[in-house]
Amino acid sequence: MRDLLGGKGANVAEMTRILGADRVPGGFTITTEACVAYMESGGATPAGLDAQVADALARLEAQSGRTLGDADDPLLVSVRSGARESMPGMLDTVLNLGLTDRSVEGLAARTGNPRFAWDSYRRFVQMYGNVVHGVSGERIEQEIRALKARRGVTEDTELDVDDLRELVTTFKGLYREATGEDFPQDPQVQLDGAIRAVFDSWTGERAVTYRRLNRIPDSWGTAVNVQQMVFGNKGETSGSGVAFSRDEVDGSPEPSGDFLPNAQGEDVVSGVRTPRDIRELADWQPAVHAQLMDILRTLERHYGDMQDTEFTVEEGHLYMLQTRNAKRPAQAAVRFAVDAVAEGLLDRGAAIATIDAASLDALLHPTFGNLDYTVLARGVAASPGAAKGEIVFTAKEAVAAAAEGREVVLVRPFTEADDVAGFHAARGILTSEGGKASHAALVARGMGRPAVTGAGDVEIDLAAGEMRVGDVVLRAGDRIAINGTTGGITTDDVPLVEPEISAEFLTVLGWCDELRTLGVRTNADTPQDAAKAIEFGAEGIGLCRTEHMFLGDRQPVMADVILAADDEARTRAIDALRPLQEADFEEILRTMAGRPVTVRLLDPPLHEFLPHPHDLPEGSPERARVESLQEANPMLGTRGVRLGILMPALYEMQVRALFTAAAKVDGANVEVMVPLVDYERELELVRALIERVAQETGVPDGAYTVGTMIELPRACFLADAIAHYADFFSFGTNDLTQTGLGFSRDDIEARILARYIDVGILDRSPFETIDSPGVGQMLRMGAWLGRKTKRDLKLGVCGEHGGDPDSIDFFHHSGIDYVSCSPFRVPIARVAAAQAAI
Ligand code: PEP
Ligand code: MG
Repeated sequence: MRDLLGGKGANVAEMTRILGADRVPGGFTITTEACVAYMESGGATPAGLDAQVADALARLEAQSGRTLGDADDPLLVSVRSGARESMPGMLDTVLNLGLTDRSVEGLAARTGNPRFAWDSYRRFVQMYGNVVHGVSGERIEQEIRALKARRGVTEDTELDVDDLRELVTTFKGLYREATGEDFPQDPQVQLDGAIRAVFDSWTGERAVTYRRLNRIPDSWGTAVNVQQMVFGNKGETSGSGVAFSRDEVDGSPEPSGDFLPNAQGEDVVSGVRTPRDIRELADWQPAVHAQLMDILRTLERHYGDMQDTEFTVEEGHLYMLQTRNAKRPAQAAVRFAVDAVAEGLLDRGAAIATIDAASLDALLHPTFGNLDYTVLARGVAASPGAAKGEIVFTAKEAVAAAAEGREVVLVRPFTEADDVAGFHAARGILTSEGGKASHAALVARGMGRPAVTGAGDVEIDLAAGEMRVGDVVLRAGDRIAINGTTGGITTDDVPLVEPEISAEFLTVLGWCDELRTLGVRTNADTPQDAAKAIEFGAEGIGLCRTEHMFLGDRQPVMADVILAADDEARTRAIDALRPLQEADFEEILRTMAGRPVTVRLLDPPLHEFLPHPHDLPEGSPERARVESLQEANPMLGTRGVRLGILMPALYEMQVRALFTAAAKVDGANVEVMVPLVDYERELELVRALIERVAQETGVPDGAYTVGTMIELPRACFLADAIAHYADFFSFGTNDLTQTGLGFSRDDIEARILARYIDVGILDRSPFETIDSPGVGQMLRMGAWLGRKTKRDLKLGVCGEHGGDPDSIDFFHHSGIDYVSCSPFRVPIARVAAAQAAI
């Protein structure tokens, strides 16, 4: 029921059933529907909510035998957000609610622990003020720091009861300053305020940013979980922590996590105190450790996935506060899938389904090329991969630098939700505080950004704009490199190298190949790309863009072809190109060793090969010729098959070079592809040309095939007519998106996309994930009509969408035979294709 109850609410309810009520604090969940109603009404309490909350609270009070905020023996609750998809740290939470000037005394007397009671109260006043009324977190931390300095102590835990009382008074003052009112002493008022604050946090800036980045719809809303408090800050037999059922960084089977004795959960995740490793729990409280390990196994079996939990130990009693499927970096996801099958926890299909295919990108990320660099400092290896760049100290600078195309590493003492945009912009993240479960670590892993956290020797002075390690001082703009796989930090200019594919990853890919029915080819224009793609498992080349072979030092030869004054000059220029083409083709065909190679005849607008007119002498015939070739809309101009019709000699040369090369390579498997076809007659003419050249070069019928790209709307609608002349179709979804939606593929990102996402028209670029209801339906029509003419017509996709997991799912269900994508996307496509087939 996670849609209605949110992930946390649904899992807490389920966990109560699995583990029993004495392991999970009681409570109730206000649904996401209530939040949606609240948002839609512009912030009015939904009808019936107050009464239902009162009922649920009465039940909780009866069950716990306590009354919310009671003066003698108060029930205290946490009020926590919980969206359908977890949004770690992005939404608000209030703990210890129900404490007042009176109930704090009751709590102190009941527990015989005044320090604990006052610590809880000061946390509540602090959190409530900050979350519900925006009292500055920085002001609060300043006051705590100032008091610690006055007392000459360094840890929060060293503050005594009187200090904590003093903090409560100070925080109440801050509250009054911010609101003009006294801190509320009525627990009902507190509860109302906290529930509203959680609702409001859904539309807060950082949550909105997070949702954009993670494509979570604004319309979902968050649930609100009101749960009886248990206390990790009750003394030395109490504590709080986070525990993963397996190592959350590398996926190895030992549970991992962090905990802090005598602390509440916020202390662990905020990174303000440096937590202890979960293994030390066994020394601290062996029975609790054993229980926790057992629970982690139970939960993992139940959910069939790696779990990420929060727990609190209250005077030796272990409580589980929440569980969720762990977000994990790609290497952990792959390791988990392999181990889960070996352990009999999951079958292969289910194991593969736990992998986020898009995240596998990280396994193809660079690592440090040499390991004997000078280590400046070490921290926690929090998110794998290596990164280097200029130091920036704020998220804002990171965003600005990235916009200028600079590579930066975001360096912070610790990070907060507001820094998320900076994560996205930075190559890597370095923090001096926190651990593997701190905010910085979670967010970086979620995004596939390398991160090193908790580098204790790094002293970051934001005011001075510098970081210091011993007597090394680095400033914004200085270069640094971090290794999120090992925790190393260096100022050496370490080379970054491409990764090897691990044995586990190969195992997973092998399973995917057994499960998938969709073929995976690659887009490759050079033998090097082709070789890389084969290494990654490509079954052939689905698109070789021959125009890329004319760039670089061959551009002038190509310009000669286009600018030729007469036919004779043109023939000469074309003849000069032919041996170059032939050599290219031969090498690619050899590299592909009998795998199919789709060679696309020249496609791009001619002007791409020409000099700019204003770079040529005014009045020169050359300039006049270049000017005469300019087009107002080159993308819709003289390109694709139109070139073949207008300048058949060019296509003829390409085909001749290809067939001549193929004749030299044993088992060459050639597919000739014609781009940008609108009319069946275009293909008919070019096909006749190809067949003639085949005959002339002595290539037998059946030794090659001829196909076309389907990348214009008309071609989709007339695919049955076009199919008469085609042995295969390959959907060019880049141009089909461009022409189907009328969005310029080169300009939409810069000009339109951000705003369209902001106002909810799009949730991502249609050039990244296929617009399935529009462009996708044209593709399906083309596929269907094509196969109406030829039942066995082979269908591929070679636009960028061929490497996008969501699009791959759509193609699989559209009867496509294979996708073709850039070499580095090939492993991702293999996994996504298997997931689509499961
Ligand atoms: C396409 O349009 O999808 C395609 C693959 O061709 P290009 O990107 O070269 O236009
Ligand atoms: Mg195209």
